Amino acid sequence: MRLLLVEDEKRMAQALCEILRLEKYEVDYCSDGLSGLEAAESDIYDIIILDVMLPGMNGYEIARRARQNGIRTPILMLTAKAGLDDKVTGLDSGADDYLTKPFMTKELLARLRALGRRKNNSIDGTLSYGDILLDTGTLTLSCVTNGQSVRLSEKEYRILEYMIANKGQILTREQLALKIWGFDSEAEYNNVEVYMSFTRKKLAFVEAKTEIKAARGIGYELRCGDV
Ligand code: CA
Repeated sequence: MRLLLVEDEKRMAQALCEILRLEKYEVDYCSDGLSGLEAAESDIYDIIILDVMLPGMNGYEIARRARQNGIRTPILMLTAKAGLDDKVTGLDSGADDYLTKPFMTKELLARLRALGRRKNNSIDGTLSYGDILLDTGTLTLSCVTNGQSVRLSEKEYRILEYMIANKGQILTREQLALKIWGFDSEAEYNNVEVYMSFTRKKLAFVEAKTEIKAARGIGYELRCGDV
């Protein structure tokens, strides 16, 4: 999962980035409102963590504008204020959840997991498509018809997660590079090809009928075969 953290207090931001990376999240960080809004609108994030009081533009305004521009990424607001009005303002501006500072790391991580599940429409921590099942906690891929399973690397997992979220659509190399690696460039396009081949091998290993089809010169599509 790729997170965007918008927080202007440097020490707080550094501590959070460290904790989140230890939890295997990929984290990008912005320290002011305008760059935060721009990053949020790139639509490459799975969850956005937004501080309220920020230079340039506050968190409420970022959430409001992102929602107006069609960004549906789950937003967790971090607020130093605990008043009911602030919570209501946060939720009304488009945030999905809020956390009052100071907070416990444990609670932050639990809320991120909940938002991640909501994003994937997964209640039990799994994602499925065709005959494959992904365990979002252990990053295990299994084939439901034969019970075979294999561990995925983090990138392989994110590729399948992204493809399941966009089933039935062709995803371009550019979209995949941007989503999985964070920006697109020739180097990232090579990564996409390499990791697509790794991911296909994992699908073949569990003998899944679901497969990654290449759309010539365009990109890739997840197909569930004849299940
Ligand atoms: Ca702040």
